[in-house]
Amino acid sequence: MEEVRIGVYICHCGSNIAGTVDVAQVSQYAGTLDSVVIARDYKFMCSEPGQEMIGRDIKELGLNRVIVASCSPHMHEPTFRRVCEEAGLNRYSFQMANIREHCSWVTEDHEKATEKAQALVQAAVRRVFYHEPLEIREVPVNSNTLIVGGGIAGIQAALEIADSYHKVYLVEREPSIGGHMIQLDKTFPTLDCSACILTPKMSQVGSHPYIELLSYSEVEEVSGYVGSFKAKIRKKARYVDEEKCTGCGLCQEKCPWKVTSEFDMGLGQRKVIYTPFPQAVPNVPVIDRQNCAYFQKGKCRACEKFCEAGAIDFEQEDKLVEVEVGNIIVATGFQTFDPSIATQYGYGKFDNVITGLQFERLCNATGPTGGNIQLKDGSIPRSVALVHCIGSRDENYHDYCSRVCCMYALKHSHLIKEKTNSMVYQIFTDIRCFGKDYEDFYQRLVKEGVNFVRGKVQQVTSANGKEADQGRLIITAEDPDNSKVTQVPADMVVLCAAIESQQDANEVAHILSISRKADGFFLERHPKLDPVATMTEGIYVVGCCQGPKDIPDTVSQASAAAARVLALISKGKVEIEAATSIIDEEKCSGCRICEFLCPYGAISFIEDKEVCRVNEALCKGCGTCAAACPSGAITSKHFTTEQIMAEIEGVLV
Ligand SMILES: Cc1cc2nc3c(=O)[nH]c(=O)nc-3n(C[C@H](O)[C@H](O)[C@H](O)COP(=O)(O)OP(=O)(O)OC[C@H]3O[C@@H](n4cnc5c(N)ncnc54)[C@H](O)[C@@H]3O)c2cc1C
Repeated sequence: MEEVRIGVYICHCGSNIAGTVDVAQVSQYAGTLDSVVIARDYKFMCSEPGQEMIGRDIKELGLNRVIVASCSPHMHEPTFRRVCEEAGLNRYSFQMANIREHCSWVTEDHEKATEKAQALVQAAVRRVFYHEPLEIREVPVNSNTLIVGGGIAGIQAALEIADSYHKVYLVEREPSIGGHMIQLDKTFPTLDCSACILTPKMSQVGSHPYIELLSYSEVEEVSGYVGSFKAKIRKKARYVDEEKCTGCGLCQEKCPWKVTSEFDMGLGQRKVIYTPFPQAVPNVPVIDRQNCAYFQKGKCRACEKFCEAGAIDFEQEDKLVEVEVGNIIVATGFQTFDPSIATQYGYGKFDNVITGLQFERLCNATGPTGGNIQLKDGSIPRSVALVHCIGSRDENYHDYCSRVCCMYALKHSHLIKEKTNSMVYQIFTDIRCFGKDYEDFYQRLVKEGVNFVRGKVQQVTSANGKEADQGRLIITAEDPDNSKVTQVPADMVVLCAAIESQQDANEVAHILSISRKADGFFLERHPKLDPVATMTEGIYVVGCCQGPKDIPDTVSQASAAAARVLALISKGKVEIEAATSIIDEEKCSGCRICEFLCPYGAISFIEDKEVCRVNEALCKGCGTCAAACPSGAITSKHFTTEQIMAEIEGVLV
C-alpha cells in the first residue's frame, strides 16, 4: 500500500473564521497528526494564491491526500477538487472540514470554536486515510428540453432555447399558455398593456418549429438523470380535435350553457365549451366535462351540430405521451392567498371587497365589465381603499413579503384615478419600491393625489352595520408605531393577497425530485450564487414557483435557466456522480428494501439471481440503501463504513 501523505490547509476566510477560531493553533495541531506532511493557514484558501499553494505542495511534497478546513463543501468543494485534479490527484483524494458554518459562525466562544475546529480537522485526517480514487464517467446530453408551466417564465425560457434550434416540450396544464400575466391589465411601472407585450410571445410559441406545445397537459412521471430524463405527460381530453379545429369560435357562440369564468376570477361567465380568453394559444376550445349537458345528462351536442370542421369528439380520451429530454425547467408559478380565510377583511362577505387579481380583470377591456371600474350594482365608486399585505408579512399566514403587491397597488391607484377620479387610499405598513424606476412611479402616484395611510388593517365592516351590505365600507387600521387607530371610508376595497406556492407544489416536487423551502416555494441550489439550479442536476426553477417576483425578475431568471441549458447542450456531455452505491450480490438476500426506498429509482431486482442491482447512472449516492440494507450488502462509495467510523472517531478523540 502506498504511503499516505496528507496536506492540511486552514483558511482564515478573512475574519469569518480567524475572528473566532485560532487558525494558527489549528494549523500547528494538524501538523502533529499522523501522516500529515504539511499544515498551513492562509487568509483566503479559495483565492488564486491559496489554490496555487496547494497545487505546488501536491507536486513538490508528493501529497496524495488534501484537506481544506474552511467553509461549507457547498461553496468550494468543486474548487479544491479541481485544484487536486490539476495537480494530478483523483478528486476523491480531497476532504473538506467545515470550520465556518459548523464552527466560527455558530459561537462567539473562541476557545470552544478552536477546540471544535481541531476535532473536525482530526476527523478529516482520519477519514482521508481510507479515501480511494473513483472513476469519473461522462454521459451524453440529450438536446431536448422539457419546460413545465407556460406562464411568462416558461414562455421566455422556451423561446430562448428554441431560437437556438433546440427542441422544447412546453407543458401547460390550462387550456392556454399565458399564466397570470395574461390576466393583468397594465404592468408597472411603465403601464404598458400586459396582453400587448405577452401575446406576440405566446403566438411565437404556438407556431415555433422547435416548440411542441402540450397544453391542457400535466407531467405524471419523471425518471432518469441530467442529460437523459424520461417524462410521461398526460394530455387531457379536450373533446375537440386539435388538428381539425379552425378556431372559428362558432361552437362557443352556440353553446347554450354558461358557468363562472375562472379566468375572470369569478367576476364573469364563460361558455361550457370555451377558450379562456380571446388570444388563447392554442386557439382550440375545451369542453368542460363537469358542466357539459351532454356529458352530464346525455342531451345537447349543440357545439357538434355547428362545427363545420367536424372537430368535436365526445369520445376523445386522455393520452399518455412519453418524451426524452436532457434538461427540465420548472416554471409552475404561483397562486394567490384566499382572503376569505382571514375573515376580518370581509372577503366573501361584502360584494365590493375584491382581490388584486379580480381588480385586474375589472380594469381590463376584455374583462367582465369591458374595463369599467364599477361596484357590484354597476355604479362608479366614490372612494377605493387598497389594503396591502393580505396574508404576507403576517405571522398568522406567510412571514415573507410578496414583493409585487406594493407596486401593483400603486398601479391600481393610478388606473382608478385615471378611469374614475375616485378618492384612493393606500393602507400599508411599509411601501417597498425596490426595482428599477419603481421609486419614480411611487413619487408619481404621490403627485397624483393618492392618500397614503399607515396602518395594519384590523377589520373591514359595513358603514351601517349590516352583515351583507353592498354600501359603504369602513376600514379600521392601526398604526404599528404609535397604535393610533384610523378609520377609512370606501365603496370598494381591493385586497393585495399574498403570492403563495401552488397547491400541488408538493406533488410536482415529488415527481421531479426537487425540494421546497419551509415557505412552500421550490428550493434553489444556492440563493445567491446558483439561484436557478436545484439540488437535482439538470433541473432548474424559474419565476414565481421559486419565490414571489415581478415580471422583469421572472424574465431574467428564465433567460438565466435557458443559458444554463444551452451551455450543457453545447458541451454535449455531462459528468455523473462517481460516489454511487454498489451491492455485493454474494451478501444480498433479495429482500428488495433498498429498491423500494431508493428515491431515484436506481435499484432494480434481478429476477433470475434474486438479488438487487444499482444502475450507477441513476444513483446519486444518497446512501439511503446502504443505511437500510439488513444484510450489510450495500456500500456507498466515498461513504464506506471505514471512512465514516474513522471520521466519527476523529471527532470523539
Ligand atoms: C394582482 C397582480 C398584479 C401584478 N402586476 C404585475 C405588474 O404590473 N408588473 C409585474 O412585473 N408583475 C406583476 N405581477 C407579478 C406577475 O404576475 C408575476 O411576476 C408573473 O406572472 C410570474 O410568472 P410565472 O410564469 O412565474 O408564473 P405564472 O404566471 O403563475 O405562470 C405559471 C404557469 O404554469 C402553469 N402551471 C402551474 N402548475 C403546473 C403544472 N403542474 N403543470 C403544468 N403547468 C402548470 C400555470 O397554469 C401557469 O400558466 C402581478 C401579480 C399579481 C398577483
